[in-house]
Amino acid sequence: MGLEKLHPFDAKKFSKAWSLLLNEFGDEISALSTIVTTPATNEALEIVHSREYLTSLQQSKTIASVVEIPALRFIPGFVLQKGLVDSARYATAGTLLATRQALESSIVFNIGGGFHHAFSDHGEGFCFFADAAFALETLRAERKISPTDKVLMIDLDAHRGNGFTSFYENDKSVSIFDLYNMQVYPGLKQGEPDDFPFIIPLRAGLNSDEYLKTLKTELPLFLDSNPHPTLAFYNAGTDIVATDKLGALSVSYDAVKERDRFVVDLLREKNIPTVIMTSGGYSNDSYKLIADLASYLIRTSACGIFNNYCHNALIGTA
Ligand SMILES: [Zn+2]
Repeated sequence: MGLEKLHPFDAKKFSKAWSLLLNEFGDEISALSTIVTTPATNEALEIVHSREYLTSLQQSKTIASVVEIPALRFIPGFVLQKGLVDSARYATAGTLLATRQALESSIVFNIGGGFHHAFSDHGEGFCFFADAAFALETLRAERKISPTDKVLMIDLDAHRGNGFTSFYENDKSVSIFDLYNMQVYPGLKQGEPDDFPFIIPLRAGLNSDEYLKTLKTELPLFLDSNPHPTLAFYNAGTDIVATDKLGALSVSYDAVKERDRFVVDLLREKNIPTVIMTSGGYSNDSYKLIADLASYLIRTSACGIFNNYCHNALIGTA
């Protein structure tokens, strides 16, 4: 509808990533993937969002505020719902579906999701729905995850996951690792750093070597201090790449690939059921990096080294 011209987000990046995977794997992709057919409804989303907020998404001004394009307030609400909010509903349903599958001992990749700036009563930073919290709370309500089961969030998007943190700051069962650029939205986390040692601020312009050194030092420490988790979410935001319009870091394309491989290999080594979400990415490299990670998961799943841990799955919301 032309809305994408008003925003740094490449609206076609998920379908472009999917095309790359189709080219590489052909029909094999169909056997590995699940297409989301049912969007997340307001009724279901009330488990994490207020009814007032969900109702307010019928209004153009609310949608305009979430995606930070003031001009959208003059476009009819039903047009924006179809073009923007409904896509987020499918991606959010995808994260729940991925989480269900991940609990069967696998790594599941939602090609979409990772909306870590959505709060209970409002959305911001392009995020309408708190998809990871929605998935976790839905599975807790179904007693598939108990309130004491350890759940991890590894958030490597360039921006700090203020929305996800707002849900779980006081929940000792959920531990958060967040490597973020403190000089871009939403900025430095306030408070005593010793209280959240793994919410780690980075400075703008940080290069590949410094980024990977920090990650490879801190993430193993985080995993060691949270043994035997039931589930991990990995927000694999591609906006850390140097060409990104919003992330303001200087990490190379190849270093982003190395980051993803390092995280996936570590989680796989420890047999941690994992849901990967794509989160933010505002460069022309984003779709290629997404496809590369999916490709890596597929290519390494046949290894047989990880026992019953070789069943990766893709969730397509494209
Ligand atoms: Zn981001």
